[in-house]
Amino acid sequence: MARTTPPRPVDITAVFPEIAPLARTATRLHPRPGTPGVRDSSIGGPLLWPSDESWPLCEESHEDGGDFTRLDAERHRRRILSAAWGRTPRGEQFAITPEERAELDRLEEEDPDPDTPTTMLAVAQLFLRDVPDLVGPPGADVMQILWCPRDHAPLSCPALLLRWRRSADVTDVLAEQPEPEIMEYDTYLPEPCVLHPEQVVEYPYEDFLPGHLRERIRIWEESSGHRYFSELSIAGGWKVGGYASWNLSGPQQMACDCGADMELLLKIGGGEWDRTGSWRPLEDAGPQSEFHEYPNRWDPTAITIGRGYALWVFTCPVSFDHPYGMSMQ
Ligand SMILES: [Zn+2]
Ligand SMILES: [Zn+2]
Repeated sequence: MARTTPPRPVDITAVFPEIAPLARTATRLHPRPGTPGVRDSSIGGPLLWPSDESWPLCEESHEDGGDFTRLDAERHRRRILSAAWGRTPRGEQFAITPEERAELDRLEEEDPDPDTPTTMLAVAQLFLRDVPDLVGPPGADVMQILWCPRDHAPLSCPALLLRWRRSADVTDVLAEQPEPEIMEYDTYLPEPCVLHPEQVVEYPYEDFLPGHLRERIRIWEESSGHRYFSELSIAGGWKVGGYASWNLSGPQQMACDCGADMELLLKIGGGEWDRTGSWRPLEDAGPQSEFHEYPNRWDPTAITIGRGYALWVFTCPVSFDHPYGMSMQ
């Protein structure tokens, strides 16, 4: 099922025509639980990986301040919760059995030791054909993202590996995909999701608007009741391209060591929409079942960074070989 972002509550270019040249497209990925294959775009799905290419390990140092969990245990925990919520009618008490509760308690008590070095975990695979705002190096048609699901300095978050490849080069696909045994937080394991990409229009984070326009928008917000930041500027959820948000740290410049300003590649994690529901797709608006859903529709990938934040990944426009940048907002 396609996912459709509802029309913005007001056409900002009709109110402030001078903002029109700042419009930029972004592709919302709209991940939803599913069973993606190696030739599909996905979050948390299998990667199209050549059998003769070694699987990456993380050799960076780790902060090791979290609660380590086995990936197997977390999948088991999610299956229990999904079954129990799936038989809980909306508005009624959580229908978990005593056996399931005991099993959750047992999983909670596990305290596995971190292993080193850490095998990287597949996080996302995006084919250019599916994501209009994705731009890759010449000849490449798929971007793969892996991460080490442990905290690294300076942001205390997973370390990423971005790999571009030409899918036609992969004839012999790695059958069994390696993964780490443990992770630092259970929110670093993506739920396998298929994608329903949709292109939307965004406008700059408000602090980056020209000063006079920002001031006029603030005055207009008071009289109109609309909110530029949450309703009109930057889309919710996982997305490629468009503008970056700076609502946690305040605006910062993302510069590459080569001197170029980096561009937003991808937003990882965070809820698909906020309490206002402004960015909730039309198809997700009403309850589709009398029972609860787990994972929640607004958090389909189960990925959370820090206390409910998202990771914003930036790349250098000069070269795909220059290191990526990250911000947590
Ligand atoms: Zn690591
Ligand atoms: Zn650079």
